[in-house]
Amino acid sequence: MTSLSPLLKQATPVIVDHAEGSWVHGTDGRAYLDFTTGIGVTSTGHCHPRVVEAARAQVGSIIHAQYTTLMHRPLLELTEKLGEVLPAGLDSVFYANSGSEAVEASIRLARMATGKPNIIAFHGGFHGRTVAAASLTSAGTKFRSGFSPLMGGVHFAPFPYAFRYGWDEDTAVDFALRELDYVLQTVSSVADTAAFIIEPVLGDGGYLPTPPRFLDGIRERADRHGILFIIDEVQAGVGRTGKFWGHQYSAATPDIIITAKGLASGFPISAIAASTELMSKGWAGSQGGTYGGNAVAAAAAVATLDVVRDEGLVDNARVRGEQLGAALKALQPEFPQMGDVRGLGLMQAVEFTTAAGEPDAAAALAVQQAAIDQDLLLLTCGGFGNVVRIVPALVVTADEVEQGVQRFAAAL
Ligand code: PLP
Repeated sequence: MTSLSPLLKQATPVIVDHAEGSWVHGTDGRAYLDFTTGIGVTSTGHCHPRVVEAARAQVGSIIHAQYTTLMHRPLLELTEKLGEVLPAGLDSVFYANSGSEAVEASIRLARMATGKPNIIAFHGGFHGRTVAAASLTSAGTKFRSGFSPLMGGVHFAPFPYAFRYGWDEDTAVDFALRELDYVLQTVSSVADTAAFIIEPVLGDGGYLPTPPRFLDGIRERADRHGILFIIDEVQAGVGRTGKFWGHQYSAATPDIIITAKGLASGFPISAIAASTELMSKGWAGSQGGTYGGNAVAAAAAVATLDVVRDEGLVDNARVRGEQLGAALKALQPEFPQMGDVRGLGLMQAVEFTTAAGEPDAAAALAVQQAAIDQDLLLLTCGGFGNVVRIVPALVVTADEVEQGVQRFAAAL
């Protein structure tokens, strides 16, 4: 008998029977409050009726056309809708299936457009598991070790991780910007650097919001040195942070934006957007793929963007995120192992530390596991594995947030 790969490491023992909104119903008959959302993917909740209907209708019309061979209506509609939310000037879109593929596409584009080899990424960043994407990733050695050599030309600069350093945000940002200049003057010269890449909120790296002033500082250096600025919105985008794009807490705008995950509520589709001028320097057959921009996924993405707009989900993410963050902070005095509570919108996290202030991965894992007994699904993350991340659907209600926090406290 064939079995699943022994390498499969499942964070929970739950086998899903069906799911709806913020709830997952297991084959064990239990209803779990899902604060994992397929790692930030099921943005409109599980099986939102409008997304289900759009996908169903599309399956009966055309499933796959391969869009560099045959264009289909959902992709044209999606492109038009993305145009309403993309930062000004990013008027050209390329589609793929996953976040990693889109990250790869952005790197290919940056290198081809600039003719320069190097990319500067940041400590704790996560950009995916394919070889180029893993090369940009430093959210944990597990994403890198064992399959070297990775792609060359990648250099890392520090991220302003204020809590870890025991600094205030301004001090951490000043330090990180000075270090970035140092990296530019030493290991990756300006003349060789094609792009900076960063997430607006470090995802797998520990749910660390990137301070707006840091994003502004990177933008300023990108302009000064003629380096492209890539913002990876794969996890933070499509409303999750309480703004449509996570980087919109700062004034900085990207030259290339990457989106995936929440874009289609669970259907695999990703995209990069850039100016037409930039995009035209990186195409020429270098980008593409069999399944990218699939018609059913595109139809689901169109429905998702409609639901996000019609149901005010960006605002809901902000308001429910504030509720969640405040309720978690209120638990801190009682549970000193909750070293830091932080987040933006519905990307909230608790970083667990020992009495000596060291990362406590065992505590994070214990809480995540204990939460399952409370019918609450959570994930861990962070370079040290000591962060519990809380990633509800954007449709989460005030009552569900309250229930989630009560269950979290019981797990603690
Ligand atoms: N970029 C970010 C910020 C992510 O969070 C992820 C996935 O978690 C990726 C890229 C890679 O996306 P995928 O897993 O769809 O390849």
